[in-house]
Amino acid sequence: MNNVNKDTPIYRINKNLNKNEFYIKRDDLLPISFGGNKVRKALLFMREFEELGCNVIVTYGSGSSNHCRIIANISASRKIPCYIISPLSTKNDSYNTKMIKIFGVKIIYCSLENVKKTIDKTVSFLTKKGKSPYFIPGGGHGLLGTHSYFQAYEEIRNWEYFNKYKFDYIFLASGTGTTQAGLVCGNLIYKDNKKIIGISIARKNPYGKDIIVDSVNSYMNKMGSNLITFEDIDFIDDYILGGYSDYNKEIVNVVRKMLINNCLALDCTYTGKAFWGMEEYIKRNNIVKSKILFLHTGGSPLFFDNLDVLMDEANL
Ligand SMILES: *Cc1c(COP(=O)(O)O)cnc(C)c1O
Repeated sequence: MNNVNKDTPIYRINKNLNKNEFYIKRDDLLPISFGGNKVRKALLFMREFEELGCNVIVTYGSGSSNHCRIIANISASRKIPCYIISPLSTKNDSYNTKMIKIFGVKIIYCSLENVKKTIDKTVSFLTKKGKSPYFIPGGGHGLLGTHSYFQAYEEIRNWEYFNKYKFDYIFLASGTGTTQAGLVCGNLIYKDNKKIIGISIARKNPYGKDIIVDSVNSYMNKMGSNLITFEDIDFIDDYILGGYSDYNKEIVNVVRKMLINNCLALDCTYTGKAFWGMEEYIKRNNIVKSKILFLHTGGSPLFFDNLDVLMDEANL
């Protein structure tokens, strides 16, 4: 499975706005457990897990997260015991939550303040039992996660080379910012001068941006390259609305239009929100006649979580 061909399709979509040309990179089609950016990250973590000879996985995330679904599914497929530390949640069961139950992982619930303590306790409990635990940070954050999107950036560059085309902008849904950090590192290391615009789905600045600067600089430091500052990152927090998983009617409409016009599924938490944010950003900054790539970061099960909402609004 480490050898899956990760090059995902890039193609032009049907969309008019300010005479820009819009393309999409389909990381939602990565061929493991419904795809998404967490697959790219997971594959590198799983390779390190094997290289270190570990035999149990510990990770962190909510039961509704794409990261936990993918780690749980890969663990189950390889018969690796998996522990997920999860914040207590009052949310209804999402499709991700339901799927995670199928994979037979151990979920350890704790309050948000106790996350770090609970992770440490779980790791040391397993170590004392003679196991060799491997910890994967929530959302696949960290150097390996950044590297996985440095690699995705190289795929984009290869595509550009073979198609004699250069993107001016890459837009994406940014959460922890690890995905964005990897793309930014690629852009810097290859001196491409693209604009990489992360549309925040929840975090505010300066916090959101600070984390990305840290991620970029730890990667650049390791590669022996120049470091960046706060001003070098475009992390746009104007479209987070009420925060994580909050959405509005415009986002629902963007999701519906993309499905109808491009046969593409977005969701209201990540990709639909980011696509809407991208449109607003383009209008506000009067971006015209540019070559724009939208990175589809996945979350296919979330599309179905929102299906009733899509139908409701259609009937209004
Ligand atoms: C996790 C996730 C993101 C955000 O990725 P980060 O690397 O944390 O910024 C974006 N889109 C989807 C669908 C995700 O699951």
